[in-house]
Amino acid sequence: MVMRCEEVWREISNYLDGEIDASLRSAMDEHIHGCKRCTAVLDGTRNVIELYGDERMAEVPLGFSHRLHRRLEENMPGNRRTFFGWMVAAAAGILVAGSFEVARSSVFGRPALRSEHAQAGSGVPPDMLVVVSTDGKTFHVPGCRFIHDKAHIQTIQAREAMREGYVPCVRCMKEYLTA
Ligand SMILES: [Zn+2]
Ligand SMILES: [Zn+2]
Repeated sequence: MVMRCEEVWREISNYLDGEIDASLRSAMDEHIHGCKRCTAVLDGTRNVIELYGDERMAEVPLGFSHRLHRRLEENMPGNRRTFFGWMVAAAAGILVAGSFEVARSSVFGRPALRSEHAQAGSGVPPDMLVVVSTDGKTFHVPGCRFIHDKAHIQTIQAREAMREGYVPCVRCMKEYLTA
């Protein structure tokens, strides 16, 4: 049996899943073995599945198991065909983009790196009482153990601290420092 690339792609999720009969599998093996494009699509599809597995379902073993299928079905709207169709399309898109890394960052997003000093005090309630040390640059929740100079501290309102140029302590003010 001679297969075309499109036919291979259509069956690729079943192939990875082991859900095709032996003659179809050997025809696909034979085609993929001699076809760089399909080898790459197969690898790309696997990568997408593994990446998805890594980020969304940490305890699911990599690779294609029936358990993973069930989890994907529970987690994804729509039916499985649509989802796997999307994955194959994503894998093919990754090939076009030329780099799995490129696709990884644009398709799935990357957590933004947050500077420790960015957005000073944006989420701190202005009326909150905070502690500053008179020669420091940060303000703290009273009792924070990262207050450096405990001999010269002063309790003031957050509003005032920010007006005077203090920035929130990244340790004790963490909950207010939303992106
Ligand atoms: Zn092919
Ligand atoms: Zn602090």
